[in-house]
Amino acid sequence: MERPQVNNNSSATVMLGLEGMAVLAVSEHDGELEYAIETTAATGWCPVCGAIARLHDRRPTWVRDLSAGDRPVTLVWVKRIWRCVHPQCEQQTWTETHPAIAPRASWTERARAHACRRVGRDGHAVAAVAREFGVGWATVMAAVRDHGEPLLQRACPGAAATAIGVDETAFTRANAVCGTGFATGIVDLHRVRLIDVVPGRSRKVLADRFSEQPDVWASAVTVAALDLFRGYGAALSAGLPNAVRVLDPFHVVRLGFAAVDDARRRVQQETCGHRGRGGDPLYGIRRVLRRGADNLTEHAWARLLSGIEAGDDDGQVAKAWVAAQELRAIYGCRDGDHAANRLYDWTVLGIDSGVAELARLARTITTWREEFLAYFNAGRISNGPTEAVNLLIKKVKRVGHGFRNFSNYRLRLLLHCGIRWNHQIPTPLRGRLPRLAA
Ligand SMILES: [Zn+2]
Repeated sequence: MERPQVNNNSSATVMLGLEGMAVLAVSEHDGELEYAIETTAATGWCPVCGAIARLHDRRPTWVRDLSAGDRPVTLVWVKRIWRCVHPQCEQQTWTETHPAIAPRASWTERARAHACRRVGRDGHAVAAVAREFGVGWATVMAAVRDHGEPLLQRACPGAAATAIGVDETAFTRANAVCGTGFATGIVDLHRVRLIDVVPGRSRKVLADRFSEQPDVWASAVTVAALDLFRGYGAALSAGLPNAVRVLDPFHVVRLGFAAVDDARRRVQQETCGHRGRGGDPLYGIRRVLRRGADNLTEHAWARLLSGIEAGDDDGQVAKAWVAAQELRAIYGCRDGDHAANRLYDWTVLGIDSGVAELARLARTITTWREEFLAYFNAGRISNGPTEAVNLLIKKVKRVGHGFRNFSNYRLRLLLHCGIRWNHQIPTPLRGRLPRLAA
């Protein structure tokens, strides 16, 4: 029996938007749409002998597609089964294929690509996307892998990076069996993008990662920002021979104020014999002590001075506070020579101050002197972009309610903060016409 001719340019076919597919009928059941479709290739050719084929049978397959409006869509593809009529051909029957719907797939390729964008670009949970399409978690994750990995290979996040930063983030939480699992992120500081994540936070993992890179990549990196962790420092100098190592100012300043905190706690214990509590003068100014002097209001100054006077008999907290402010102020120097002179004076004062915390800090900073001063000659680069990327990493981790599989974790991080996504931007319907501008 000859089937009625299908109009390949019907409105429904245009709305479907799948090349080589035509809509036969649309129906609605319980708020869901069902499109019956077929391919527009009405003639089949034998894949073995090339003879023209005869239609043998039809068989429907059901697949999920992108939703239309807010209604889930199921495609019922009425597949043709062809038969070769050449008497000597070994091929008997075969089923037609289409690139938009893989054999035995439960959803269309464009729905899979959409799921990859939702999870990768938008950072949504795999489980949420799976719920929306009515498919399983593993089905969505497979789509993210299938569509995401080629994207990463094409984008090559590490290529042409000239300044990088490294920092650690927690990957798995500690439990009764094992401690917190860490991962080290490598970030392109200029483009604020994640280049890679490696499991662990030691010198070895970072050095191994650099040694896997082509030499061209390693020699292109001219600046590397890091916090005060010897392991990373050693891996950076070994793996990136041309890179100047720069100590991140934020971490240095934070270390200075941590010394003030330590000194305050010790003096508190020595003078009152207990930990700080409400009513103790030093405890009352603990937050004021952590602020930069130029950010203090008149009221805050008054509180600071009265707290120090009442609780800091030997002036040790005051000394630590002045030193932390001075350390912070060194970053305001106009060039490396001035900074070097001020740092020298600061170190001498710190070591001779008689405040244990300050002397320790001064010794630490001395061992990092070169990296500290490199900041002034390397374009005043900081690890700020790395911290920005860390926020995105933590967001992905929270949305996923934690991760167990490191390769899935790495893939999702790189898709979310390692590559630039090209997507079609809809044409604005209403421009800012003069009559609409208020
Ligand atoms: Zn044949």
